[in-house]
Amino acid sequence: MDDAVTVMAATQRRVYTRGSVLPFEEDETREFKGHRNIAAEDIPPWVHQGLSREASTRKPVSRNLNAFLNTGRGGTVYCGVDDNGRVLGMHLTRYQKDHVRLSVRDTLRRYQPAVPDDRHRITFVPVVSAADGQHRPREFAYEASRRKKRHLVATSNYCWCDAEAKARSHVGGTTARSPDGESRPMARSLAVSRGRVARDSDGDSAPSGPSL
Ligand SMILES: [Zn+2]
Repeated sequence: MDDAVTVMAATQRRVYTRGSVLPFEEDETREFKGHRNIAAEDIPPWVHQGLSREASTRKPVSRNLNAFLNTGRGGTVYCGVDDNGRVLGMHLTRYQKDHVRLSVRDTLRRYQPAVPDDRHRITFVPVVSAADGQHRPREFAYEASRRKKRHLVATSNYCWCDAEAKARSHVGGTTARSPDGESRPMARSLAVSRGRVARDSDGDSAPSGPSL
């Protein structure tokens, strides 16, 4: 079970099916990303070594956010979606979702001029396999104390949340079936708008209202 990101109607909880293709293509307001490197500093060193095709094509999400801001039209980055619009999803623990939120906020605050927090919104959209249908496992609360642990942003170094997620996947065999439901794969969308948009309060899921 995975999550991806999206735009949705108000009362309906949106879910993506893994392997499905989004009904639109990349353009000036939409970008698909198979990774979640938000800032330029998040790009791992091997990318810069130019050893693979990936090396020459991986660009941070911040580049697109910057472009969306500069056009004045805003836009949405879909992470966990390949170049062809196919929904892959990505495994993210709740702590890693916190990390993504912090990383985006940190990145936008470092822009000149800084981008106010209310000009972006992050939505985590569940990705299910075709066999799962709309079923989502119940999510359990995570530990408040651990949520206070500082995340390492603006660096390609491993943060504790990534190290923990990796360790878990080794122990558990498959994070997708983690009994606590925290490690389900997710995809997410980052929307930047010209005007005010709803912020996600605590929230990792339940996107509401249309994106841009
Ligand atoms: Zn982290």
